[in-house]
Amino acid sequence: MMNKIPVHIVILAIVVLLASMVSCYNPWFTPVDEKRVAVRGEMNLTDYEFKPHVLVKLDGQWDFYWQRLLEPSDFTSSPLPGMTGRLTFPGFWNGYNLNGETLKAGGYATFRLIITVPDADRRYGLKFTEMESAYRLWVNGKPAIQCGTVGKSREEMTPSWKRYEYYFQPESERVELVLQMSNYYHRRGGPEESIVFGPEETIRSYKMQKVALELFLLGSILIMAIYHVILYFLRAREVAPFFFGFLCIVVGLRIPLSGEKLVYEVFPSIPWVVATKIEYLNLVLIIPFVAMFFYRLYREYMSAIFIRCINGVSIILFMFILFTRAKLYTYTAYPIEAFLVILGLYLVYILVRAIIHKQKEAVIVLAGMLLFFLFGLNDILYNNLIINTGYLAPVGLFIMLFSQAVLLSLRFTRAMEITEILSHDLEKQVQDRTRELSSEREKLEKMAREDSLTGIYNRRYIMEVLENEIKRYNRHGISFSLLMIDLDHFKKINDTWGHPAGDRVLHSVGDALRTGLRSTDIVGRIGGEEFMVILPYTNGECAMIVAEKIRNDMRKLVFFEGDENYTITASIGVANVDTNDIDSALIIFRADRALYRAKDKGRDRVEPWWSPG
Ligand code: GH3
Ligand code: MG
Ligand code: MG
Repeated sequence: MMNKIPVHIVILAIVVLLASMVSCYNPWFTPVDEKRVAVRGEMNLTDYEFKPHVLVKLDGQWDFYWQRLLEPSDFTSSPLPGMTGRLTFPGFWNGYNLNGETLKAGGYATFRLIITVPDADRRYGLKFTEMESAYRLWVNGKPAIQCGTVGKSREEMTPSWKRYEYYFQPESERVELVLQMSNYYHRRGGPEESIVFGPEETIRSYKMQKVALELFLLGSILIMAIYHVILYFLRAREVAPFFFGFLCIVVGLRIPLSGEKLVYEVFPSIPWVVATKIEYLNLVLIIPFVAMFFYRLYREYMSAIFIRCINGVSIILFMFILFTRAKLYTYTAYPIEAFLVILGLYLVYILVRAIIHKQKEAVIVLAGMLLFFLFGLNDILYNNLIINTGYLAPVGLFIMLFSQAVLLSLRFTRAMEITEILSHDLEKQVQDRTRELSSEREKLEKMAREDSLTGIYNRRYIMEVLENEIKRYNRHGISFSLLMIDLDHFKKINDTWGHPAGDRVLHSVGDALRTGLRSTDIVGRIGGEEFMVILPYTNGECAMIVAEKIRNDMRKLVFFEGDENYTITASIGVANVDTNDIDSALIIFRADRALYRAKDKGRDRVEPWWSPG
């Protein structure tokens, strides 16, 4: 049972992960055509056929005018403004070689691109992502987008990372884009990500998909967060859900701060410096929360010193981000990325060790981690303009968090199973113990009723029965009889064959009496070689017949001692109830008197207490 669950959950987890990836991750739904690039400031799409859900990135060479803020009107009169050169989109101007001089991140510039569209009769759209760190766009001479305020100094400009789209109807096949940009805030300046171009409906659905995915991830991750934080508060002894819950919150909050920057939609006036600082603080917090969460789960495989180092570095980075300007602290992106890679590699190593130590569940976590790791690596490479894919980390994080949630659920299920097994065992133990006790009690009760030598009832019990019979007679008039049996010359048997032989005789007599009577009759030994029999529902006449039968049974018993043998006889006194004022002493007295009479008359006889007619 316990070995089966992980297999089911692994399959379930894989199905859910694949389904969520395939159904949600929009770049695979709306691929961007990589084949078209701008050459010498022109993007020729004359023969381009826009397929449904395929967009074009406006990557390639844009005209570049450094330290100039030009407007469309500047390009209508000749001579045209003198171009600095061309800058490849996406890219930064810092590092650009201008007459032997390398440009710095701070500065401003104008870019220009001419697009030739295949069809002037349809509407088109442009989608912008991150530009460092403010821009202004004109399309065919008309003001189109203003993101932040472009300016010639730190004071003149306001940065913004809000995401904008712009839709338009071209007047002809020739579309002119004039794009001003300035940066005095970020460590890098210029177009960081590709501008995407295509038919209006495709751009709209592309945007919608991105937002839908982010809201889906945000919602899912926050639900996981709430669930695990509640789990922690309900069961404070388990700390792992607490760290996991907070990790989810940190990661969840990251989503509106990155990607489509939904935070700007909810708080339009949030200053860039604030939003960016929060984003970086949030990023750096992921490191210690991941580290501590895993430390809670795999303490035995992890080095406490390593975790302390990671936490220490995170605190230093956190403080640095908190107290410096964006131009400085945005450099922490490199150490943070480095630490995430180191931590990721370390955790993969830990998980592999856990798997080797037969921690099957670690496979799920490892799979989630590896996916996140690959996606994270993609993001780092993309962010540093090494590959041109897109940000995948939010999906990776979601997958990782999901696999963690599966792991935590597994641990809880297992704990619950153990509890069930334990409580089942306990129940069984209680049942066994109860059974033992009740059989013990039965034994004791039997012992209290039984005569140890003969196995028939003892004096105490048969007296109880006698009292009950008298009550029954007094209440309901149910008559009964009493036999008092005494073995004849028993002393002689003891003297001749020894006391143990006498005991054997007593035992046999007990057996003979019990087997010779009805099951409702009560037979007991009341002392020495004296026996008493209670015969319910029996009148004196019938009791005489029973007594006669017993006397005969006694005679039939034969005892062997070596080669010799002997028999016994018994004298029996019979008494019955006849009046209402009878009690146990009286009836015993009567039976005893009858018994003495039998002895007197020569033994081996039955005598009633009444004088026989
Ligand atoms: P009668 O009744 O015929 O007058 O003769 P009796 O020999 O049976 O007389 P009595 O009642 O005086 O003797 C009873 C003897 O039974 C005395 C004792 O030695 C013997 N006896 C009593 N209890 C036990 C017992 O538990 N085991 C054995 N072996 N003998 C017992
Ligand atoms: Mg006697
Ligand atoms: Mg006797």
